[in-house]
Amino acid sequence: MHELSLMEAVRDLALEQARRHQARRIEGITLQVGSLAGVEIEALRFAHDVVMADTMAAGSRLEIEAVAAACFCSVCRQSFPVLDGCCDCPVCGALSRELLRGRELQLVSLELA
Ligand SMILES: [Zn+2]
Repeated sequence: MHELSLMEAVRDLALEQARRHQARRIEGITLQVGSLAGVEIEALRFAHDVVMADTMAAGSRLEIEAVAAACFCSVCRQSFPVLDGCCDCPVCGALSRELLRGRELQLVSLELA
C-alpha cells in the first residue's frame, strides 16, 4: 500500500512546518488529491491514522480536496476534463499529451495550535 509512504512524506512536511511555526499541535491537515494520483481515499485515511500516531498530529482531521484531472488540447487550444483516464479531446478527438492537473498529492494547508 503506497498510501503509507505517501502519507509519511506528508507527515514529515507537516511536522517540519509545525516546528517552524512553533505549534504545539497539528489539528487539521488538508491535502489535494488528483483523480489520477493513483491513491485510494480510504487507504489514505487509514494511512493518516497510522503515520500520525505518536506525533503532534495524532488525532488531526484529514481534509481531502479532490482535483479533477484535465488535459490541454493543442489543436483546440483549450483544456478539457479527463474522464476514465482517457486523454482524447472531446471536441476534435486528438490525443492530448499535456496533462494539466490530476496527478497531484500535496499538502495545501495545516491547522496549527
Ligand atoms: Zn481538441
